[in-house]
Amino acid sequence: MSDNNTNPEMRSNFIHDIIDEELASGKRTTVATRFPPEPNGYLHIGHAKSICLNFGTALKYGGTCNLRYDDTNPVKEDTEYVDAIEEDVKWLGFQWDKRLWASDYFDQMYEAALELIRKGKAFVCNLSPEEIKEYRGTLTEPGKNSPYRDRSVEENLKLFQDMKDGKYKDGEAVLRAKIDMASPNINMRDPVIYRVSHTPHHNTGDKWCIYPMYDFAHPIEDAIEGITHSICTLEFEDHRPLYDWVLREVGFWPNPPRQIEFARLNITDMLMSKRYLKRMVDEGYVDGWDDPRMPTIAGIRRRGYTPEAIRNFCEEIGVAKANSTVDAAQLEAAVRDDLQNKVPARNVVTDPIKVIITNYPEGRKEMVTVENNRNVPEMGERQVPFGRELWIDGDDFMEVPVKKYFRLFPGNEVRFKGAYFIKCNEVVKNDDGTIKELHCTYDPETAGGGVNANRKVKGTIHFVEADSAVKIRIREYGHMMKTDEDGNMEFNEDSVRETWGYAEPSVAEAQPGERFQFFRKGYYIADSKLTTDDEKVFNSIVSLKSSWKK
Ligand code: ATP
Ligand code: MG
Repeated sequence: MSDNNTNPEMRSNFIHDIIDEELASGKRTTVATRFPPEPNGYLHIGHAKSICLNFGTALKYGGTCNLRYDDTNPVKEDTEYVDAIEEDVKWLGFQWDKRLWASDYFDQMYEAALELIRKGKAFVCNLSPEEIKEYRGTLTEPGKNSPYRDRSVEENLKLFQDMKDGKYKDGEAVLRAKIDMASPNINMRDPVIYRVSHTPHHNTGDKWCIYPMYDFAHPIEDAIEGITHSICTLEFEDHRPLYDWVLREVGFWPNPPRQIEFARLNITDMLMSKRYLKRMVDEGYVDGWDDPRMPTIAGIRRRGYTPEAIRNFCEEIGVAKANSTVDAAQLEAAVRDDLQNKVPARNVVTDPIKVIITNYPEGRKEMVTVENNRNVPEMGERQVPFGRELWIDGDDFMEVPVKKYFRLFPGNEVRFKGAYFIKCNEVVKNDDGTIKELHCTYDPETAGGGVNANRKVKGTIHFVEADSAVKIRIREYGHMMKTDEDGNMEFNEDSVRETWGYAEPSVAEAQPGERFQFFRKGYYIADSKLTTDDEKVFNSIVSLKSSWKK
């Protein structure tokens, strides 16, 4: 069922406790779940949690998980969204058993509605939408019966046929379940189960002008597919009595599915709604659904997050029964944890300062050896060029050092990683007072980063040889949204900063989607859209240090 799912078995949670009980008591013998997105946008990290839970549960119990498009709202087909959803589920490491469309069940849903009418459990209502709302009552007051509630079965069958035949305009008639207008649960106050809509449907065209409502359609979809556990988010808890009512009254299924609710994922500074994310795209705040700032799966993929990190994160936050908000730093920590043992380092400097090694012969160059990943010796070593002219990072030099500054400053000696001990003798300035270059000397006895040196240095810095340096573009990302004191989110105008830097020559070969640690800076990925053979554009994935405390 899974391509590359390297997750350990899912940790248990309250849903698995329910399943364990049912399997032990013999109430059920199989587990079948589904992931049911509405194809009206790209999936986001909240959906990733639902995907990990539904597919992970099926994997754990040797069951099945369907991908079912919840397309009961008539809209034009957007194959872009459908394709994106499938790419995202696969990228997360899961493979569905069946790919299904809720609209394929319209005939059965219609039959189920007829069954309810015949049993006297549904009626056609001609109250206007406003009147229906008015009659519904409030949390503290019961509702009022619709004047159309006592229509005969024959009349209801005929009027429902009229609805189906297009004799009503949108909003002129609905089919309602006949339950209880005095129920303390507003969802049970004669809910609308079918409405008229003359919008063509991408799958069924204009075959139907009546469409089932979610609360009526969803249990039927689940039952038809033999879903055992219909996992959904907490907002649907109050709808569960209606879910069960539909299955009981329609009664086609001996062992009906069970709805179980869990807390939806919220993350600080993250918009978690396709509708709002679509606005960010449509109104041009970001550069598409896969903008690296977007919390969409397409966005975080382009940003450089890994599917393993997302799965580990979903596992770590667990499955709760109460809503809460997770700190974005915890997601970032999961990404860092995953990358730190996978990704090779490269030397890259920004705000570069030129260094001239005045005692190093002109025209000479040599290769020095550095490790690819400090944590993983098996990742081996690579060679980087060293010569008379080098670039160092702007952060690695201070003309007037602050206390405890161990990097380069006038009169100080540091290790150039993998190369030599190097001492700064002179700061050469431009006319405007800015630094032109640093004149330094190297100690030939300290080759290999001073392995055989007779003295110690406190600082180690990296460098890029000037002649072979590759200029790269770097995009540093912050959170797309920021949250003010009142908890309102707004677009963070400072969410991307473009800079540039010099990189060691191997970076010229970076392929779109390739990840590196820029030594001592952070993790970066060659942007999959902007990187070409001639120009390398990198996205910051995550910094090296965490602000997240476990
Ligand atoms: P949106 O408001 O973003 O459109 P939705 O819940 O309407 O979200 P659907 O396409 O209907 O999106 O969702 C498919 C599945 O993903 C549902 O089972 C839903 O409960 C789940 N899901 C959506 N958002 C989250 C979230 N933040 N955390 C956990 N599960 C989620
Ligand atoms: Mg939705």
